[in-house]
Amino acid sequence: MKIAVLAVQGAFIEHERKLEALGVSCVELRKAEDLNQSYDGLVLPGGESTVQGKLLRELGMFDTIRKQIQEGLPVLATCAGMILLADSLEGDATVHLQTVPMVVKRNAYGRQLGSFHTEAEFKGIGEIPMTFIRAPYVSEVSDGVEVLAVVEDRVVAVRYGKQIALAFHPELDEDQRVHEEFLRMCGEK
Ligand code: GLN
Repeated sequence: MKIAVLAVQGAFIEHERKLEALGVSCVELRKAEDLNQSYDGLVLPGGESTVQGKLLRELGMFDTIRKQIQEGLPVLATCAGMILLADSLEGDATVHLQTVPMVVKRNAYGRQLGSFHTEAEFKGIGEIPMTFIRAPYVSEVSDGVEVLAVVEDRVVAVRYGKQIALAFHPELDEDQRVHEEFLRMCGEK
């Protein structure tokens, strides 16, 4: 199995380490030509969504990635990645890939609570550690979007078709179960 990791900005190395520890080979997507190969899944890492969205457009990667996701490429998106997938952002006219019908609120936990760690139930997996860094949350979901985790009444993980979007960073914790779940989804035909 081969997993593509968007590597234009942000915390992509941590995902690669996690996936490689699970025995999977990774390819970094840095430019348009990198999209002309086959891979079984795509990771959209955390970082800064505005910068990532701008780079995707400037590097000529935006339309191809969007099309690949719409055609069913499995995606694991964390934090800034979740923002990229949102259909719209609360209080912000910016939009990016728009492949998940949900509204996301950026930097939703304010300055004081910019970063925190907790443990909470993740549907189908059980209790997992969750690290939040200037995290978004999902403020609205449309039909067909499955809620996978809720922390303090806020939706922090969803699945829509083969897209999993998380407000937190499973690549920064020891636990491997979210990545295993993603790989299982990538292996389904
Ligand atoms: N606050 C960032 C954004 O809006 C996301 C933070 C993260 O990815 N850790 O893009």
